[in-house]
Amino acid sequence: MTGDKIPDPWTVIRDPEDFRALQKGKTPKRVLGCPRIYETIQQARTARNGESNNSLPYYSPLIQTVPSLPEMVSGALNVLDNNSKGFFIMIEGGATDWASHSNEKGRLIEEMTGFFNAVDAVVAWVEKNSNWNETMLIVTGDHETGLLWGEKPFVPLVDNGKGQLPGMTFYSRDHSNSLIPFFAKGAGSELYKNFADEYDSIRGPFIQNSEIAQLIHLLWLK
Ligand SMILES: [Zn+2]
Repeated sequence: MTGDKIPDPWTVIRDPEDFRALQKGKTPKRVLGCPRIYETIQQARTARNGESNNSLPYYSPLIQTVPSLPEMVSGALNVLDNNSKGFFIMIEGGATDWASHSNEKGRLIEEMTGFFNAVDAVVAWVEKNSNWNETMLIVTGDHETGLLWGEKPFVPLVDNGKGQLPGMTFYSRDHSNSLIPFFAKGAGSELYKNFADEYDSIRGPFIQNSEIAQLIHLLWLK
Protein backbone atom coordinates (compact mmCIF):
# COMPACT_ATOMS: atom_id res chain seq x y z
CA MET A 1 0.00 0.00 0.00
CA THR A 2 2.80 2.41 0.86
CA GLY A 3 4.91 1.53 -2.20
CA ASP A 4 7.83 0.08 -0.19
CA LYS A 5 7.10 -3.47 -1.47
CA ILE A 6 6.44 -4.63 2.13
CA PRO A 7 2.85 -5.94 2.41
CA ASP A 8 0.52 -3.98 4.70
CA PRO A 9 -2.00 -6.61 5.80
CA TRP A 10 -5.63 -5.85 6.59
CA THR A 11 -6.77 -5.81 10.21
CA VAL A 12 -10.35 -7.08 10.49
CA ILE A 13 -12.50 -5.89 13.39
CA ARG A 14 -16.01 -7.14 14.29
CA ASP A 15 -16.98 -6.11 17.84
CA PRO A 16 -18.21 -2.76 19.25
CA GLU A 17 -15.27 -2.54 21.66
CA ASP A 18 -12.83 -2.91 18.73
CA PHE A 19 -14.52 -0.01 16.91
CA ARG A 20 -14.35 2.08 20.09
CA ALA A 21 -10.66 1.24 20.57
CA LEU A 22 -9.97 2.51 17.05
CA GLN A 23 -11.07 6.04 18.00
CA LYS A 24 -7.92 6.88 19.98
CA GLY A 25 -4.20 6.36 19.68
CA LYS A 26 -2.19 4.47 17.08
CA THR A 27 -4.06 2.50 14.43
CA PRO A 28 -3.19 -0.15 11.81
CA LYS A 29 -2.63 1.09 8.25
CA ARG A 30 -5.50 -0.92 6.76
CA VAL A 31 -8.67 -1.76 8.64
CA LEU A 32 -11.79 -3.61 7.53
CA GLY A 33 -14.59 -3.13 10.05
CA CYS A 34 -17.54 -5.47 9.64
CA PRO A 35 -20.12 -5.45 12.47
CA ARG A 36 -21.67 -8.80 13.43
CA ILE A 37 -25.09 -8.23 11.88
CA TYR A 38 -26.98 -9.61 8.89
CA GLU A 39 -28.24 -6.34 7.41
CA THR A 40 -28.19 -2.69 8.56
CA ILE A 41 -26.90 -1.78 12.03
CA GLN A 42 -30.28 -1.25 13.74
CA GLN A 43 -33.06 -0.44 11.23
CA ALA A 44 -33.83 -4.05 10.24
CA ARG A 45 -33.79 -5.39 13.83
CA THR A 46 -36.72 -7.54 14.96
CA ALA A 47 -39.74 -5.53 16.05
CA ARG A 48 -40.93 -5.89 19.65
CA ASN A 49 -44.53 -6.97 19.98
CA GLY A 50 -46.86 -4.07 19.20
CA GLU A 51 -44.44 -1.97 17.12
CA SER A 52 -46.07 -0.35 14.08
CA ASN A 53 -44.98 2.19 11.49
CA ASN A 54 -46.40 4.85 13.83
CA SER A 55 -44.46 3.73 16.92
CA LEU A 56 -42.07 6.12 18.65
CA PRO A 57 -38.34 5.75 17.96
CA TYR A 58 -36.54 3.12 20.10
CA TYR A 59 -39.85 1.30 20.79
CA SER A 60 -37.93 -1.93 20.15
CA PRO A 61 -34.70 -2.24 22.15
CA LEU A 62 -31.49 -1.50 20.22
CA ILE A 63 -29.07 -4.33 19.46
CA GLN A 64 -26.16 -3.95 21.90
CA THR A 65 -23.58 -6.06 20.05
CA VAL A 66 -23.01 -3.63 17.16
CA PRO A 67 -21.20 -0.26 17.04
CA SER A 68 -23.11 2.94 16.24
CA LEU A 69 -22.54 4.93 13.05
CA PRO A 70 -20.75 7.78 14.95
CA GLU A 71 -18.45 5.22 16.60
CA MET A 72 -17.56 3.75 13.21
CA VAL A 73 -17.00 7.26 11.80
CA SER A 74 -14.65 8.35 14.61
CA GLY A 75 -12.65 5.14 14.25
CA ALA A 76 -12.39 5.50 10.46
CA LEU A 77 -11.21 9.12 10.79
CA ASN A 78 -8.51 8.10 13.27
CA VAL A 79 -7.24 5.51 10.77
CA LEU A 80 -7.36 7.74 7.70
CA ASP A 81 -5.78 10.79 9.33
CA ASN A 82 -2.47 8.91 9.54
CA ASN A 83 -1.91 10.04 5.93
CA SER A 84 -0.12 13.40 5.98
CA LYS A 85 -1.36 14.13 2.44
CA GLY A 86 -4.97 14.11 3.58
CA PHE A 87 -7.84 11.80 2.77
CA PHE A 88 -11.34 11.42 1.35
CA ILE A 89 -14.07 9.60 3.26
CA MET A 90 -17.63 8.81 2.18
CA ILE A 91 -20.01 8.00 5.03
CA GLU A 92 -23.52 6.74 4.35
CA GLY A 93 -26.42 6.57 6.77
CA GLY A 94 -27.97 4.15 4.33
CA ALA A 95 -30.89 2.78 6.34
CA THR A 96 -32.70 6.13 6.20
CA ASP A 97 -33.64 4.86 2.73
CA TRP A 98 -34.94 1.50 3.97
CA ALA A 99 -36.98 3.09 6.78
CA SER A 100 -38.54 5.43 4.21
CA HIS A 101 -39.31 2.60 1.75
CA SER A 102 -41.17 0.88 4.60
CA ASN A 103 -42.76 4.20 5.73
CA GLU A 104 -41.50 3.56 9.29
CA LYS A 105 -41.70 6.87 11.13
CA GLY A 106 -39.96 5.94 14.39
CA ARG A 107 -37.14 4.05 12.72
CA LEU A 108 -36.58 6.87 10.22
CA ILE A 109 -36.16 9.26 13.16
CA GLU A 110 -33.68 6.81 14.74
CA GLU A 111 -31.68 6.61 11.52
CA MET A 112 -31.68 10.40 10.99
CA THR A 113 -30.55 10.88 14.61
CA GLY A 114 -27.69 8.43 14.04
CA PHE A 115 -26.74 10.28 10.86
CA PHE A 116 -26.82 13.71 12.56
CA ASN A 117 -24.59 12.30 15.34
CA ALA A 118 -22.20 11.02 12.67
CA VAL A 119 -22.04 14.54 11.15
CA ASP A 120 -21.30 15.91 14.63
CA ALA A 121 -18.45 13.38 14.95
CA VAL A 122 -16.95 14.64 11.66
CA VAL A 123 -17.30 18.30 12.70
CA ALA A 124 -15.61 17.52 16.04
CA TRP A 125 -12.74 15.81 14.20
CA VAL A 126 -12.28 18.79 11.82
CA GLU A 127 -12.28 21.33 14.63
CA LYS A 128 -9.83 19.33 16.77
CA ASN A 129 -7.47 17.88 14.15
CA SER A 130 -7.84 20.07 11.06
CA ASN A 131 -9.69 23.28 10.19
CA TRP A 132 -12.24 24.61 7.68
CA ASN A 133 -9.48 26.25 5.57
CA GLU A 134 -8.13 22.85 4.51
CA THR A 135 -11.08 20.47 4.91
CA MET A 136 -14.46 20.42 3.19
CA LEU A 137 -17.51 18.64 4.58
CA ILE A 138 -20.49 17.88 2.34
CA VAL A 139 -23.79 16.66 3.80
CA THR A 140 -26.50 15.53 1.40
CA GLY A 141 -28.28 12.45 0.07
CA ASP A 142 -28.10 10.65 -3.25
CA HIS A 143 -31.89 10.80 -3.63
CA GLU A 144 -35.14 11.24 -1.75
CA THR A 145 -37.28 8.26 -0.66
CA GLY A 146 -40.90 8.23 0.52
CA LEU A 147 -41.95 11.79 -0.43
CA LEU A 148 -42.19 12.66 3.25
CA TRP A 149 -42.76 16.33 2.49
CA GLY A 150 -45.27 15.77 -0.32
CA GLU A 151 -44.52 17.06 -3.74
CA LYS A 152 -47.02 19.60 -5.02
CA PRO A 153 -47.93 21.14 -2.71
CA PHE A 154 -45.13 20.94 -0.14
CA VAL A 155 -46.40 19.39 3.12
CA PRO A 156 -44.36 20.54 6.13
CA LEU A 157 -43.73 18.32 9.15
CA VAL A 158 -45.68 19.37 12.26
CA ASP A 159 -44.03 19.66 15.68
CA ASN A 160 -46.37 17.84 18.07
CA GLY A 161 -44.20 18.51 21.11
CA LYS A 162 -41.55 16.61 23.03
CA GLY A 163 -42.03 12.84 23.25
CA GLN A 164 -44.61 12.81 20.42
CA LEU A 165 -44.15 11.76 16.82
CA PRO A 166 -44.17 14.81 14.55
CA GLY A 167 -47.03 15.11 12.08
CA MET A 168 -45.51 13.34 9.07
CA THR A 169 -47.03 11.55 6.09
CA PHE A 170 -45.27 9.44 3.48
CA TYR A 171 -46.67 9.84 -0.04
CA SER A 172 -44.60 7.08 -1.62
CA ARG A 173 -42.80 3.82 -0.84
CA ASP A 174 -40.21 4.45 -3.53
CA HIS A 175 -37.37 6.73 -4.57
CA SER A 176 -38.38 10.10 -6.03
CA ASN A 177 -36.67 12.86 -7.99
CA SER A 178 -37.70 15.45 -5.39
CA LEU A 179 -34.98 18.04 -4.69
CA ILE A 180 -33.11 17.37 -1.45
CA PRO A 181 -30.99 19.56 0.85
CA PHE A 182 -27.30 20.07 0.10
CA PHE A 183 -24.86 21.47 2.65
CA ALA A 184 -21.15 22.16 2.15
CA LYS A 185 -18.76 23.85 4.56
CA GLY A 186 -15.04 24.58 4.47
CA ALA A 187 -12.29 24.70 1.85
CA GLY A 188 -13.69 25.14 -1.67
CA SER A 189 -17.34 24.85 -0.62
CA GLU A 190 -18.22 28.33 -1.91
CA LEU A 191 -17.43 27.09 -5.46
CA TYR A 192 -20.63 25.01 -5.40
CA LYS A 193 -22.58 28.26 -5.88
CA ASN A 194 -21.15 28.34 -9.42
CA PHE A 195 -22.84 25.01 -10.16
CA ALA A 196 -26.26 26.18 -8.94
CA ASP A 197 -27.27 27.50 -12.37
CA GLU A 198 -30.65 25.77 -12.54
CA TYR A 199 -33.79 27.05 -10.88
CA ASP A 200 -36.82 25.42 -9.25
CA SER A 201 -39.89 27.63 -8.77
CA ILE A 202 -40.33 26.48 -5.15
CA ARG A 203 -36.80 25.66 -3.96
CA GLY A 204 -34.78 28.22 -5.92
CA PRO A 205 -31.31 27.52 -7.36
CA PHE A 206 -30.18 23.90 -7.33
CA ILE A 207 -27.28 21.72 -8.51
CA GLN A 208 -27.40 18.33 -10.25
CA ASN A 209 -26.15 15.45 -8.06
CA SER A 210 -23.47 14.55 -10.63
CA GLU A 211 -22.01 18.05 -10.16
CA ILE A 212 -21.13 17.26 -6.54
CA ALA A 213 -18.44 14.84 -7.74
CA GLN A 214 -17.34 17.21 -10.51
CA LEU A 215 -16.19 19.84 -8.00
CA ILE A 216 -14.56 17.23 -5.74
CA HIS A 217 -12.60 16.05 -8.77
CA LEU A 218 -11.54 19.60 -9.69
CA LEU A 219 -10.33 20.22 -6.13
CA TRP A 220 -8.33 16.98 -6.20
CA LEU A 221 -6.53 18.13 -9.36
CA LYS A 222 -5.68 21.46 -7.77
ZN1 LIG B 1 -33.88 2.78 -1.77
